[in-house]
Amino acid sequence: MNIQMVDVRRQYQKYKEEIDRAVLRVMESGQFINGPDVWGFAEDIQRYLGIKHAIPCASGTDALQLALMALEVGPGDEVITTPFTFVATAETIALLGARPVYVDIDPQTYNLDAARLEEAISSRTKAIIPVHLYGQAADMDAILEVARRHNLPVIEDAAQALGGHYKDKPLCTLGDLACISFFPSKNLGAFGDAGMVTTNNDALAEKVRMIANHGSRVRYRHEILGVNSRLDTIQAAVLRVKLKHLDEWNNQRRRCAHYYSAGLKDLEVVTPVEADYARHIYHQYTVQVENRDALQKHLQEAGIPSAIHYPIPLHLQPAFRDSYGYREGDFPIAERSAARVISLPMHPDLTRQEQDYILEAIHKFYH
Ligand SMILES: *Cc1c(COP(=O)(O)O)cnc(C)c1O
Repeated sequence: MNIQMVDVRRQYQKYKEEIDRAVLRVMESGQFINGPDVWGFAEDIQRYLGIKHAIPCASGTDALQLALMALEVGPGDEVITTPFTFVATAETIALLGARPVYVDIDPQTYNLDAARLEEAISSRTKAIIPVHLYGQAADMDAILEVARRHNLPVIEDAAQALGGHYKDKPLCTLGDLACISFFPSKNLGAFGDAGMVTTNNDALAEKVRMIANHGSRVRYRHEILGVNSRLDTIQAAVLRVKLKHLDEWNNQRRRCAHYYSAGLKDLEVVTPVEADYARHIYHQYTVQVENRDALQKHLQEAGIPSAIHYPIPLHLQPAFRDSYGYREGDFPIAERSAARVISLPMHPDLTRQEQDYILEAIHKFYH
């Protein structure tokens, strides 16, 4: 058996003909920057989400930076987010000279605990970034209610959650801005880096577009400070083919997750909790266990890969902890989760036989 955390090769083999044709079409067109595939993909996403603007960019990290720049986040500002996420969420805040301010997570969903949000707001707060971690929505109504009361914009970090829902609404349509990643291992993955910012706000869309294009609307006239962040044309061609299958893949992920959870229910394993407001799309299937490192070693010996998302909460990362004065114990739920979580293989092409083998290996560990 050849079990992968994410099997990008198996997926490519399945859709090879159509993807190859799309990529070759770009090569033959000679249009390697922007062009019909890039704008076409942006329109596909707008239609898929029912959103007014989708602005392509070079990565999910860039999407976060562009969104923060559009909100004019800079030195002296604070941006509130979760300490339990991929580094990019806080890295972009810090790179712009602002301070990442963390709110501890809900122990069941691992997402920013909306009940603790208000106490983190200060006169310097410029924005709030909830992350839909592992593919499950943060509690957006509660977060937006606090944000609106304080007149603060919300950026959804939906890097792991394209295709997920909050109540009956698609993620990426709830905040003032949302950021998507098409990193190869994400639920909709390119064959390299790619990202996108979405918004229903015309003025913010115009600003993000300008910033992504060197602060320019008219060639060689640069109105504001910008960057070069484009979605590669070949990646757009690949993504256009793959987007058509995203809902089907997310359903397969859900089926696999429910099968895992049923198979693990009698063990000392804390399986993922689906909040009643969320349609979880399982970018990761992440459980909590007491003896995580021993379980990981046991799985590895059985030829089963696993991963830790994430072993160090952001407030304790060496790159951040000293400049902002955070300490161990500041966000105990994030810290406890970081010490206990482990993600099992999860992708749409995981066979039932592979799922059974993984469950069996975990049962053996506990018996
Ligand atoms: C992947 C990811 C990002 C960054 O996306 P890239 O495309 O890799 O730059 C940001 N935030 C979260 C939560 C992610 O999982």
